[in-house]
Amino acid sequence: MSATSDNPVFNCQQCGDCCAGRGGIHVKPQEVAAMASLLSMSEEVFCHSYVEDSVTGSRLTVAANGSCVFLLEGNLCRVHPVKPFICRQWPFLPILLLEADELEHAKGACPGISPACTHEEFVAAALRRGKK
Ligand code: SF4
Ligand code: SF4
Repeated sequence: MSATSDNPVFNCQQCGDCCAGRGGIHVKPQEVAAMASLLSMSEEVFCHSYVEDSVTGSRLTVAANGSCVFLLEGNLCRVHPVKPFICRQWPFLPILLLEADELEHAKGACPGISPACTHEEFVAAALRRGKK
């Protein structure tokens, strides 16, 4: 069965699972600057409080429960207006657009992705989104 307008390719269920850490969210300097500004902090203080180094680059720290340090009660994001690119793009990430197998894997992790959608429908939805 394919996805229809009644069964969209992606409809976030606000479950918060994608904010549950798994190695942290990698951040670029301009993303750090935007989040620090939102929180009225210097970048230095922001990084000291919320960013850690890793072999794959700088990333947001995780709370003791393993969730992103910015995940609030109710699965809200404390830095939502300026959250990192990967958070804004999810689930339309390059790897999921290129690899059908990766999309199938992501369906198991994110209940917001329609289990019924084909890879072609997913890519088409991403292209429509990019034009908005
Ligand atoms: S895992 Fe998917 S459905 Fe859950 S909050 Fe993240 S994007 Fe939304
Ligand atoms: S920055 Fe916000 S959207 Fe991104 S993982 Fe953290 S809580 Fe979730």
